[in-house]
Formats: sequence, structure tokens, C-alpha cells
Amino acid sequence: MQNNPNTTLVTQTAPIATATHGGRAKCLQRLVRLDLPVPTTVALSFEAVHKIAQGELPDIEAVLKQFPDDALLCVRPSSEDPDWGGPGAVLNIGMNDSSHATLCRDLGSDAATALYMRFVQYYAVHVARLDPDMFDNVTGNGPEGLKETLRAYEDETEESFPGNRATQLGAVLRSMARAWDGTTARLLRQAKGAPAEAGLGLVVQQMAFGVGIKKSGAGVLQLVDSNTGLPQITGRYLRQSQGRDALHAEAEALYLTKDPRGPSLEEEEPVLFKQLQDHAALMRVKLREEMQVEFTVDDGVLHILDGVRVARSPRAAVRIAVQLAKDKIIPQQEAVMRVEPSMLNELLHRQVDKDAARDVIGHGIAASPGAATGRIVFTAAEAQASASRNEDCVLVRRETSPEDIRGMHAAKAVLTERGGITSHAAVIGRGIGLPCVVGVSDIRFQTNDKQLMLKDGRIIKQGDVITIDGTSGDVLLGAPAMQEAALDDAFQNLMDWADAERDIGIRANADTPADAQTARNFNAQGIGLCRTEHMFFDINRLTVMREMIFAETGEDRRAVLERLLPMQRDDFTQLFRIMEGQPVCIRLFDPPLHEFLPTNRSGQRELAEALDLPLSDVTRRIEAMMEYNPMLGLRGVRLGVTVPEIYEMQARAIFEATLEASRDGDPVVPEIMIPLVSAKREVELVKTNIDSVAAAVHNERGESFDYRLGVMVETPRAALRAGDIAQHCAFLSFGTNDLTQMTYGLSRDDAGRFMSDYVRQEVFPEDPFHTLDLDGVGELLELGATRGRKTQPDVTLSICGEHGGNPESIAFCRARGFDYVSCSPFRVPGARLAAAQLAI
Ligand code: PEP
Ligand code: MG
Repeated sequence: MQNNPNTTLVTQTAPIATATHGGRAKCLQRLVRLDLPVPTTVALSFEAVHKIAQGELPDIEAVLKQFPDDALLCVRPSSEDPDWGGPGAVLNIGMNDSSHATLCRDLGSDAATALYMRFVQYYAVHVARLDPDMFDNVTGNGPEGLKETLRAYEDETEESFPGNRATQLGAVLRSMARAWDGTTARLLRQAKGAPAEAGLGLVVQQMAFGVGIKKSGAGVLQLVDSNTGLPQITGRYLRQSQGRDALHAEAEALYLTKDPRGPSLEEEEPVLFKQLQDHAALMRVKLREEMQVEFTVDDGVLHILDGVRVARSPRAAVRIAVQLAKDKIIPQQEAVMRVEPSMLNELLHRQVDKDAARDVIGHGIAASPGAATGRIVFTAAEAQASASRNEDCVLVRRETSPEDIRGMHAAKAVLTERGGITSHAAVIGRGIGLPCVVGVSDIRFQTNDKQLMLKDGRIIKQGDVITIDGTSGDVLLGAPAMQEAALDDAFQNLMDWADAERDIGIRANADTPADAQTARNFNAQGIGLCRTEHMFFDINRLTVMREMIFAETGEDRRAVLERLLPMQRDDFTQLFRIMEGQPVCIRLFDPPLHEFLPTNRSGQRELAEALDLPLSDVTRRIEAMMEYNPMLGLRGVRLGVTVPEIYEMQARAIFEATLEASRDGDPVVPEIMIPLVSAKREVELVKTNIDSVAAAVHNERGESFDYRLGVMVETPRAALRAGDIAQHCAFLSFGTNDLTQMTYGLSRDDAGRFMSDYVRQEVFPEDPFHTLDLDGVGELLELGATRGRKTQPDVTLSICGEHGGNPESIAFCRARGFDYVSCSPFRVPGARLAAAQLAI
């Protein structure tokens, strides 16, 4: 057998790799090499298991030769990544009348009979694929129950139960190999990132009984808390049990360490507990990972059956990685590599404020932490529709399946009636940092009627607002106050280590002082995009803005702009102060003006009153400004060229704020960015105006300042003509939202309606507004960057569309020597980590 690479005895020397035999087999070999008390184990490779699924069994007798003749065996899955799952373990293979008789003597007849019955029933349902109902009439666990169980098997199959160990083992291996190939199993693991052709290994291990006359039992132990990652021995131990039974029967299980709530292994078996703790500590150091130890006590002797990576929340993942590095078990760089950038989302997630009033309408399993509020929707399609309307929603399902994944991405939280901590909704929710509560049994899900019926008879309907607290498992009515995420010291350590590696800048897109503060807290290296039109959504400012739009003459317009100037100056001064000398890139006004005007009659009437104009004047003017396709109309720099006073006011506000903020802090060098450019001449015209405003402010104040002027590359023409355009620019920033829209000729505001169809039919591999289209839009970025740099070698290059925070866009930009990426403030830590991982 040692020479057969497909079936390998797990010994100190036989070579086993995760890529050929799976993580469990590899881990068991490490445990054997650490001299831990691991029962004899044989590992079957992916190739062997693949052949089994095709009907070609390995030499079963050769496998069995590795074990004592009468030993019972178990088989467990060993996939490359434990998160990809696999068929459940099968215990006690080899049970038959004769082993039953032996065990009656060794373990006592109750234990032996219970084992036998359990094995036959498991075998019938999971291996022979019989209906579990066939055992409904079995009475009790005693000898009579065993007879009935065996009879039921025979009646159903018209064959006696296969008593031969080799036959049983062959059938178990076949059924596990085939289960891995099943459609559901494949979809589930693909949803967790497994490749389509992911292999399964199997390990066959000699059973250590956890049942018997003497001291016996089984349990699991780990040295950290899975939620917080803090040191804390956790786990359970159940006397007279096998496998992971202790986790299913918590009521009777023992605590591991002293606990006021009940008896503990530490008190009852101090020597054994100490051994176990030492083994776990050794595993942590030698396997360089926090491990959960699966152990069995057989006749007072401790056996280590398995070690699995401790399941962990994102918060715990950070703390564990950092602590391993601090304990010098792994290098800091490895700690940085061990945390998925997307995991940071959860750490940064909001929680329901501890002091907020809670109208709890239901409770389930807290499956994915963080809290979110939204309107109830009952289908994934409705969730996507809500997202395209920018409306927060909570996706409510009986349970989720792979078809719901897009809807889950679109929702702010997920609530399911069924499922446990490893259900689809829970696994996916945790994976994407989406607050999620599953297994809610105290609410009736009347999904066909699109409503929820509460225990007290109240009905909650589609569209009602609820809050999912994925940290506590509560479902709350309404929108309670929320608390921003606390960023602990482990998070700060990890970020510091990441920054030490990173070689591309990360800025934030921030429009308001609050955004800027968040960006600063997350150590963004400046603001890469401040969308100034977002500063006008405040109702007081909106009226002044509308007056400006309605001004008939240049003089009238200038008068209103005079009133807007101090507002903008204050905005910019605040941003500069918050960013403390970090660069702030301010984009001049972008959207079409009529976006600021009311569309309905009552709004127009109010506007007429506010401006003291006849309603007919207001409606006429609004109609005159309407555009068929405003995204491609009078917006961006086109507005700056045709109504130059607006950009002039903004430039003046920026320069005056520059002087103001430089007075009491580091000198500010503002960056002014011109949007939606498509021709060099546009830049020349705007530049001339801005330069003259700068000269005027300089003359008026007698103070000097610098500024940098740049262009936003978001039309295909700007990318193609970047060589020309860059001649006038200190920087080029790629606005990939518009660039994607224009490259595809696909409205960014309407694409959501059919995007899922497109992705489902594989027209696009992904929604290009979420994931940068490296082939098409990417080619324009590459062209623009190369051409820009050719005429202006020092030009600063960056990306500031929504794609800026995605690891694959960061990789693309970094590979092309971009200076920085800019993304929304909450994505900054993930971007910092992703960038560091690229550099390591
Ligand atoms: C862009 O187009 O990529 C961009 C950042 O600008 P906005 O989203 O404001 O159009
Ligand atoms: Mg844009």
C-alpha cells in the first residue's frame, strides 16, 4: 500500500499533500508526526475517490490489512479546503452480529446494541439510500429494537444486512464519493469558491469508542472563542458518546473548564484535561493555526481523532492572525495574507445600539453578525429591484439556495425561517458580511401571501421596515438607533502591518465632513473624489441652487453664486481641516442642472412660491431644460464651458478655503478635477478660467498657494486622447462608472433591470458596474494611462469609480503603475489589505 499513491497509510513518512489528499488527511499526518495519539488512519487520494465514484473501488482488502481484524472503522471526508464541506462522517463500519457480541462483552450490551442499531440505521439511510420512515416503528434501543431494525432493513431490501466489513466499507466509500459529485453538493461548494473540478479525499480511521463500561466519551476543544478570537477554552464533552455528539446534546454535555453553570471536564478529569490542553497548545504552535481538537476518551485513554481549523467570525479571524504573529508563530506578513479583505466588512459593520429600544418580533440563530435595516422583500428579484432603486431591503426567505445569491448581494440583510449555522444563508451571509438570522421558528413565514405572522398575531407585510440583528439573532420591527463598528487593537495592528507592505496609495471618495472623518479614521491617504454636487442636497442650499439655475441673466446668476460661495468655502475648509494636509481632490460640478429641479406639480408650485415666479414660468423653464438622455447631455465639463460662472465660483471657494485651512494647519494643495472631459479644448478653457480665479484670489489676499488641476477620464474619447489631454494636467483619474457606462453603451441606472439575465446567460461574466471589465474598460484604462504618461511622464494616475475598492481592480491598477485607487470610506481598510496582499 505504501507504494500506491492513491491509498496511503498516514504515517510519519508517507507523503501526503493537501492538493492530492485534502486538508484533513494532511492535518492527520501532521498530528501523527507530532506523536499525538491518533488512531491508525489510511488516506484515499482525490484520484482514488474519483475512481470510486466512477465504480472502480480500490483494493479494499489492502486497506483493511492496515487495521486489526476486528477493528471498527470510520470514514471522513478530506477536501482541499474544509470550508467546501463534504459528505458527513460514517462511524462504526464493521458492526455485525459477531462484533456486536464482542462489544457486548467489552462495552456492555446497552452500548454495543445502541452502536449497532445506530450504524444499521445510518447505513440504511445514507448508504443504501432507504427511506428514514422505515424505522419509525422501532421500539427502543434494546435488543428488541435491534431486531426490529435489522428486520426492517431486510423487509425493505429483501436482503439481509451486509455483515461483512469489506462490503460495508466499499459501500460507504462509494456513497460518499458519489455524494460529492451530486449537483447540490457541487453548487454549495462552488458558492464557497470551490472550483468545479474540486476533488474529495477520504480518510479511513480506526474507531476509538467513546462508549463503554469504563470512562468514555467524546468532545471538541479549542483555545479561542470563535466569535471574538480572544483566548478562551471552548468546547463540550459528552460522556458515552462518539464523534461530535457533544455539540448536538449540549444539555447533558460537560463544560470543558470550570463553569458555574454545570460540571466540567477540568474538574472531573484533571489529568486528561491537562493532556488535552497540552495537545491543543502544541497543535497551535506546530500547525501554526488555531485548531479545534476532536477527541475521544476510550477506557480512560485519550485519542485525538482530528484537528480542524477553528471556525471563526471575521472579527476573530483578524485577532487570531494577529495573535499568532505576535506570538511569533507566523510572520506578520503571513498574518496579513490570512485575512480576506472582504472579511473586514463585518468588523466595520454597524450594530444595533446597545441602549436603543428594541421591539423584538422574533428570534433565530445569529448566523452572520452586524445589523441592518430595510424594507421586507420576499424574492431575490425583488431585492435586486430594490437595490436598483437605492432602497435598502431585507430579503426574507424560507431558506436560501444558490439561486438567491444575487438577491443576497442586493439586500442589506437576510432572514430565513429554516436553517442552522451552516445553512446556505448563514454560510453565504458570513462570507459576504451580510447580517443574517436563520432558523426563526417563532414567526410564521407566509411567503406566498408576502407576509409574516408574529406570535402575537400581528402581521408584517412586504415593504414594512424591519431590522436584522445578526449578532444577537433578534428580528426587530422598525429602525432602531445603530452603533458604528468598534475597531479594536488587533484590527489596527493588522492594518499597520498591511500599510508597511503596501505600494499603491488608497484614498477615499468622500463628499461630506462625516465621510471625510470616516476616511481619516480608516487612514485613507486623502480624498480621491469629492462629488461637489452632493453638497447641494441639503434643503436650504437646494433653494439657492435652484435660484441659480433659474437666473435669466449672467448678472443674476453671479448674484446667487455669491450666496453659494461662502457655503462651498466652508465645506472645503472643513474637508481640508479634517484631512490635515492629506490631498483632497475636488471634482467640479458634474450633473445636468435639471436634476436639481422638482419633477412633480406640487414641487414646482413650491418652487414658484420660493422664487416668487408664476408657476407657468417655472414649468416652462423646467421643460426647456429637460434632456432626452441627461447622462449624455449638458453635464460635467460641458456645463463648465457653457456656464463658466459655476466653476469659477467653485474654484474661488476652493482657493479661499485653501488659504483659510493652511493658516491653522499644514499647507493645503488642493486638487481640482474636471469631470466628463472628451476634448483637450475643454480642459484649456476651464484651465484658463481657473488660473485667472487663482490669480485674482492671490492678488486680493496677497498670499500664495499651489493647486493641481486634473481631468477625470470617464469618456472613451478622453481615454483615447489622454496624450493630448494630459499636457494640461497634473493628474488623470479614471471614473470607471461612467467609463463602463459609455464603453458598453449601457445605462448605469437601468442596467440592474436585466443584468441578472445577462449574467445568468453568461453574456457578461459579472455585472461590469460591480467588477471592472478588465478586457474592454481595462483596455481603455491601459491606453489612457500609457498615452497620458507619454506626454506627461509625471502625471498622477488613479481610479475613482466604484470599482476602486475591489481587489481585482487594485491588482489591475497596481500592475500598471497607478499611484492610487479611491473608494468609498468603508471599503478603505479592505482596499489597504488587498493592496498589501498584492505586494507580499
Ligand atoms: C465615475 O463616473 O466613475 C465617477 C466616479 O463619477 P460619478 O459616479 O459621480 O459619475
Ligand atoms: Mg462619472
